[in-house]
Amino acid sequence: SQLDLEPILAGLNNAQRLAVTNPSSVVQILAPPGSGKTRTLTSRAAWLLCPPQSLDPRNVIVATFTVKAAREMKERISKLVGNGVEGRLVLGTFHCIARKYLVKYRHLVDIKPGWGIADSSDSLGIRIIKRRKSPLDPSQVRSRISYFKARNSSPVADALPPPSTAGTQSAQARVRDIPTEDFAQIFEDYEAALGASNLLDYDDLLLRCLELLRHNLECVSNVEAVLIDEFQDTNLVQFELMKLLAWKRERITIVGDPDQSIYGFRAAEIRNLSRMVRAYPQTLVVHLEQNYRSSASILLAALEVIEQDHDRPKKPLTPSHSVGTRPVLRRIPSAFLEASWIVSEIQRVRAMTGGMVELGDIAILVRSANLTRNIETSFVKAGVAYKMVGGLRFYDRVEIKTLLDYLRIVQNPGNNDALTRIVNTPSRKVGDTTIKALLDEADKRAKSVWEIIRTGLGGIWKDVRIAKAAEKGLGDFMGIILSTQKQLEGDEQGKGLVDVVEFLMRRIGYEDYLRRSYPEDFDAKWSNVSELLSQAQEVERLDDDEDTLPDIDGLPQSQVEQSRLQLVLDRFLSNTALANEVKGDDETVKQGQVTISTIHASKGLEWPIVFIPAVYQGSIPHSRADDTDEERRLLYVAMTRAQALLYMSCAVRNSQGDKTKLSQFLTHRSLYPLLDSRGPTLGFSSVQSVSGILGRECPSEVHIQIAVDKSGVASTLDDQFPDRDPLESDSEGDDLGEDGARLKRRRLQSEQASC
Ligand code: ATP
Ligand code: MG
Repeated sequence: SQLDLEPILAGLNNAQRLAVTNPSSVVQILAPPGSGKTRTLTSRAAWLLCPPQSLDPRNVIVATFTVKAAREMKERISKLVGNGVEGRLVLGTFHCIARKYLVKYRHLVDIKPGWGIADSSDSLGIRIIKRRKSPLDPSQVRSRISYFKARNSSPVADALPPPSTAGTQSAQARVRDIPTEDFAQIFEDYEAALGASNLLDYDDLLLRCLELLRHNLECVSNVEAVLIDEFQDTNLVQFELMKLLAWKRERITIVGDPDQSIYGFRAAEIRNLSRMVRAYPQTLVVHLEQNYRSSASILLAALEVIEQDHDRPKKPLTPSHSVGTRPVLRRIPSAFLEASWIVSEIQRVRAMTGGMVELGDIAILVRSANLTRNIETSFVKAGVAYKMVGGLRFYDRVEIKTLLDYLRIVQNPGNNDALTRIVNTPSRKVGDTTIKALLDEADKRAKSVWEIIRTGLGGIWKDVRIAKAAEKGLGDFMGIILSTQKQLEGDEQGKGLVDVVEFLMRRIGYEDYLRRSYPEDFDAKWSNVSELLSQAQEVERLDDDEDTLPDIDGLPQSQVEQSRLQLVLDRFLSNTALANEVKGDDETVKQGQVTISTIHASKGLEWPIVFIPAVYQGSIPHSRADDTDEERRLLYVAMTRAQALLYMSCAVRNSQGDKTKLSQFLTHRSLYPLLDSRGPTLGFSSVQSVSGILGRECPSEVHIQIAVDKSGVASTLDDQFPDRDPLESDSEGDDLGEDGARLKRRRLQSEQASC
């Protein structure tokens, strides 16, 4: 009834409402940034769950791009529908969803019990490359392997994907510069090593799930609807998964924006959008045109950037907010001064807006993580709290990783990768020679290293020469693992995973070890460990439903021979692995902290104030990127994260001291009048427009602070616009009047062009 739907549809515009309530079975919502795609998708999920549709949440699958996005969507759906519905939805990233199916139906694809998810570290690649004496860089090899697996092809059979879009072309280029045979061998070793450790990597999760569903369609015969966010960044395997998940009812809703496809380097396929229309001729394509996020002037500047791609069809995009303050583009003498300019601008804006803007409203978005050092330093100096997102990930920190490795071995002792990493941490006199001997023996006998240690310590394997001291060390190590495993068995009331982890840490002597090894950083490291413990506690509280897909009649599920605590440990380790897939996904930013993030990790998010430093050639477009269009889309994604104020900057000399050139995406003449490249940037009207866009109360008193530019910033930009029209004068300050007229003129032009 109309009444039931009211909370779901409230606050949506007409186009969004139609998309939410559309009776078509296959709906593709294509729309620009900030047009409410994610919001519309969330509402459609809620609509499907409410009467009269009333789908059972366990039969509805929702795929998001990040774990963080999944969490937010769950919260929203819970607000809209209630009844704890969100806990029963199959909602998560593709990898989370695939894992659920593999947990339940492992036996149908011959995955051995006790399997784990390989984390994203490079140690496996390093070991293999070392053994092959190959000169290749481990992390590159790893990403190449992943590229192939994501395209569901082996390197030998499909060494050169068919030439087509720029995206695949660049991948080809990357493939060509390594001898295929060498790579094929490494690929084989890598796969064998995963198999020997009973591990699946991220791509395997999807591929094995694909295999499962292909041969056992009845596993998903219950699925009533499939919804996918950020569809432009799905890969071929995910596309196939979507088709299989939805085979029974063919009810699919996807939202996406081809202009925001930024994961082509990881084999994402923009063409999945057209592929979908071909696969489902009944697809209804819906466009949304109203942007609710950004000020009109930010939008226009962003559009000017994306429209430089002439092959791109023109699309209408209507701003909802007023013109606002023109985006700022500053040329600054050095990277050091650029960083201090950002800090002083932040302080100035905060002072002017009298508490309306908080640190949590601000983000610094960078093309690559190594650009942040200067900025971090100046934040520290000025006492501005910040959070680095997508830098060294929480689960990759040494104190966390080591502990997780222990737990991984407790869960699956056959995990050679984890075992060789930590068998000698803290030192047990098990040196590299011993480890190598163990690995060789394991290879030779097709057994795991653990198995070799367990059965070989008495000297059964004659070939393994192990020093007395090392033998004792290995014995101690085995004792720790075995006794912790014992802790997990049985179902002692009131005992939690935290107790087990604490037991393990006591057996290792972990606190002592950290204190000895990191006397300077011990406190920080120990507080990270506490954070991990509280996450372990969190997992315990989660509903058991979380892991449970509905039972299908006549379809046996994997035998669960595990105790409750073993299951909890499984879930905990999977969570940590899955959150590590997208860089920065595991980070939560607290209020009162500026966010520093890579552009890639900022997808789908928004902030009132955004800084994009280092917009120079070689940074964006990046010197190592071979798809310029994807780089342009990256800048577009970054710019469209901003709601009210957007600052871009470019040091004349970068932090290496090299002279830079402004990014080619920003030197177009048509951009010049849309950007503020000189003068003080904020006046009273800016503060008013910020308050309008954010819907926050304007401070009663605005403290105008004129920026005193000590860095010689102003007016050095002109030489960056070689074909600038000299008659087009750049006015100072934030004059909305004249700007407004100019923006209108520009919009008219672009509308005419699109007619
Ligand atoms: P992106 O492409 O960046 O992922 P998106 O299209 O998914 O963006 P959302 O994140 O869903 O956009 O929405 C952007 C902002 O606009 C959010 O703050 C959202 O709450 C708001 N919004 C969406 N629809 C409306 C509406 N009809 N009225 C007011 N605000 C809206
Ligand atoms: Mg979105």
